[in-house]
Amino acid sequence: MQHHAMEATACPLASHPAAPVRPAAPAELTEALLRQFDTPGPRYTSYPTADRFGSAFGPDDASAALDALAAADPAMAQPVSVYVHIPFCEQLCYYCACNKIITKHHERAAEYLDHLEIELGLVGARIGHGRPVSQLHFGGGSPTFLLDEELTRVMAALRGVFTLQPDAEVSIEVDPRTVTAERLAHFRTLGFNRLSFGVQDFDADVQQAVHRVQSLDMVRSLMAPARELGYVSINADLIYGLPRQTPESFARTIAQMVELRPDRLAMYAYAHLPTRFKPQRRIHDADLPPPPDRIAMLGGALAALQTSGYDYIGMDHFALPDDALAEAKREGRLHRNFQGYSTQSDRDLVALGVSSIGQVAGRFYQNDKTLPGYYEALQAGRLPVVRGYATTADDRLRREVIMAVMCQGRVDCKAVEARHGIRFAETFATELAELQAMAGAGLVRLTAEGLEVTPAGWYLVRAIAMVFDRHLRTSQDRARFSKVL
Ligand code: SF4
Repeated sequence: MQHHAMEATACPLASHPAAPVRPAAPAELTEALLRQFDTPGPRYTSYPTADRFGSAFGPDDASAALDALAAADPAMAQPVSVYVHIPFCEQLCYYCACNKIITKHHERAAEYLDHLEIELGLVGARIGHGRPVSQLHFGGGSPTFLLDEELTRVMAALRGVFTLQPDAEVSIEVDPRTVTAERLAHFRTLGFNRLSFGVQDFDADVQQAVHRVQSLDMVRSLMAPARELGYVSINADLIYGLPRQTPESFARTIAQMVELRPDRLAMYAYAHLPTRFKPQRRIHDADLPPPPDRIAMLGGALAALQTSGYDYIGMDHFALPDDALAEAKREGRLHRNFQGYSTQSDRDLVALGVSSIGQVAGRFYQNDKTLPGYYEALQAGRLPVVRGYATTADDRLRREVIMAVMCQGRVDCKAVEARHGIRFAETFATELAELQAMAGAGLVRLTAEGLEVTPAGWYLVRAIAMVFDRHLRTSQDRARFSKVL
């Protein structure tokens, strides 16, 4: 999935701040800090966040952005990232908040791929053929809904327009229920070198409650061959706050996951928003763990993962110390894009497929979220873009500061001043005043050189970044986030 930046996770800590944090939580993450500062907000996989995109931005603007990319770099020296969205899933997970289509009719994939190829042709006509790609990601939905030959077809079509760099990160989200070791071997022959397993929880009761049944053995039987096949980084996703989860059951899931030893782990808070996401209406409120239990799950998992050798990267993400993501964090080379944390510097992102979001030449664009709309545009020979956003100088300045907070945990005021021609203390006078409370609480250090996130601050890094978000500075926006609770 692309983590659309507006998805506000319903943070259990913020929603019920008075609840106690059980002792297993890391020492620096105190109840008082959480009570005061942990508020729900954007995940900052982009800035501005996707809710800012407007329908005044359409196919012609997206075409102009692609033309600008081509004109700025005619020698094609700069590699781009590519995201491919495959929307289909065979079964509905009740917690789902993604853009997907549930179907058992696999023949629908062929029609989709026909249109994906048309889109690829339109993009290639704008940016030229042969542009290098350093990062290619297949998300969904479930990309592994595609049959082996269909994935082969998509990769051939992509290679017809782009040149995958030899060291490109080529990743795919894997639904363990749809793959075998043989399929993983096939993916390797296509060039995939990273996998992301959707796990969420190993407890049988929880799996039934969310309608996603996949045993520990099933996942284990894929992880071992994945390693032997030479996948360089294996990620697994977990969710806490799901129905019928308890601190004890989730601790078991964490222990089982630690035993499987994926290189990276993402652990998200479940946001129960049944009015917004229809599948979630099948989850009974009474089955949801109460806030103190959610807090215990988070605290216990943070402590268990770190004592088991995982480094905390920030914002729900963990990695083994020898994984490239952990190395990048230590060396201050971390970046953030629509897939979350990344080792790659900021690249233009070409998005393909229904609902995908791209970012090209300072502009964001999003494709139609419906298949009929997506198909119709492509059949008419136009890009299926329905909304977007052209960034301003202020957006670019704030984006740099927000990403520096989220990724490096540090903002160098002088460098920002030099790059943007501003006086930091003047431009961000309101923000710096607001940060005083966080500085007093030990989340940030404010120095003559700039701002530094403390170890405690890393657990609340989103709240620190939110201070610099100009678009959030209206009471109306804040109220909307609060409603998530
Ligand atoms: S696999 Fe489940 S959670 Fe993922 S997109 Fe499909 S229905 Fe949603």
